[in-house]
Amino acid sequence: MTTPDRKKDLLLTALIVLGMVLALIFGFAARQSETVMGLVGWVSWMGVLFKQLLLVIIYPLVLASMVVGIVNLGDIRKVGGLAVKGLAYFTLTTSIAVVVGLVLVNVVQPGAGVDLSLGGEAPATLVERGFGDFFLEMMKNTFKNPFASLANGDVLAILAFGIGLGAVLSTLGDHGKPLVDVFRSLNLAMMRLTDWVMWLAPLGVFGLLTKVIAEQGFDAISALGWYVFVVLAGLGIHGFLVLPALGWGLGGVTPWRFFGGVKNALAVSFSTASSAATLPVTLDCVENNLGVKPRVAGFVLPLGATVNMDGTALYEAVAAMFIAQVYGIHLSLGQQVLVFITATTAAVGAAGIPGAGLITMTLVLTAVGLPIEGIGLILAVDRMLDMVRTTVNVAGDATGAVILDRYTT
Ligand code: ASP
Repeated sequence: MTTPDRKKDLLLTALIVLGMVLALIFGFAARQSETVMGLVGWVSWMGVLFKQLLLVIIYPLVLASMVVGIVNLGDIRKVGGLAVKGLAYFTLTTSIAVVVGLVLVNVVQPGAGVDLSLGGEAPATLVERGFGDFFLEMMKNTFKNPFASLANGDVLAILAFGIGLGAVLSTLGDHGKPLVDVFRSLNLAMMRLTDWVMWLAPLGVFGLLTKVIAEQGFDAISALGWYVFVVLAGLGIHGFLVLPALGWGLGGVTPWRFFGGVKNALAVSFSTASSAATLPVTLDCVENNLGVKPRVAGFVLPLGATVNMDGTALYEAVAAMFIAQVYGIHLSLGQQVLVFITATTAAVGAAGIPGAGLITMTLVLTAVGLPIEGIGLILAVDRMLDMVRTTVNVAGDATGAVILDRYTT
């Protein structure tokens, strides 16, 4: 299992910060001197390499993690009341999180008024498509040849196929086992590959950010600042208002008791940026401090750590919208519905490890036809946002355990 090692993790964070600082120095120096500007082209390949590697991982990872996530629910025909309630809770809270993010990003418009031409264009058809056609086309995009979809990177179709295949495999018992094992092993391999590729993130940050700063200077920094503000504000609203209100209203646990009970899990999730690594602590806090029955916690929390990512979904929606704004691309209501759907599902496909959300976020970008180069900007601050969104992910799982405990005898 891929669990982050503390020392390595700190080293990676330090290297990413270093990449960012060097990009600032080099980027601003390039704005002052023609000679330095001439060198920018020599470093931008690093960003391109990182971006291409993300594209290598994303499609097999999402398919495998979707299949494994669904199979983990057990035989889909016999899924018990707890699983149904769990899925209803996960869907509800993840949707609320994405809506909070979408409202904020539309109101604040962190990327508006800035013209960052990072290269790459969104297809005009997507931008111009109307609401009615949009649904018809979405249906056609969701159900189609899965092999062609994998080859072409058709996000919705891959997600839908993963859900269907996982559901069917869960009913096949021993006959399905060989294929389930293949997907489990593919899932683990892709998570390990993600870990490896993340070691190139410092170079990616350096390469992509240098180019942006050299071309846009302070405009880029201020847009980035607003983007961070919107993500943090959204996570704050969800983590401090929505979740505690649900836990209190539906679970009968006051916010102070809730936060007092799970504070260790929140601290660990913040510092590791991994819901999976935090799981043992979350289980301990929820069972021993909040009195949730081990049977409920033992089902809801491991499942939640894999599929329920409120913070990640919120962040993915905001990031995609921010990138659209930065490119001056207006997304209609219909297209924002697509952002909503893909952010909610892509978060399910995100593993509970550091940086996973950034990788599945490329799915949202691909689905609405936004340029993947856009990650060049947000990559620089992603590590910090990862820590906060993971904390919200874990708070969402713990709230779910508290609520479902109340309705389970
Ligand atoms: N790091 C997050 C988690 O473990 C996933 C993400 O990157 O958003 O929950």
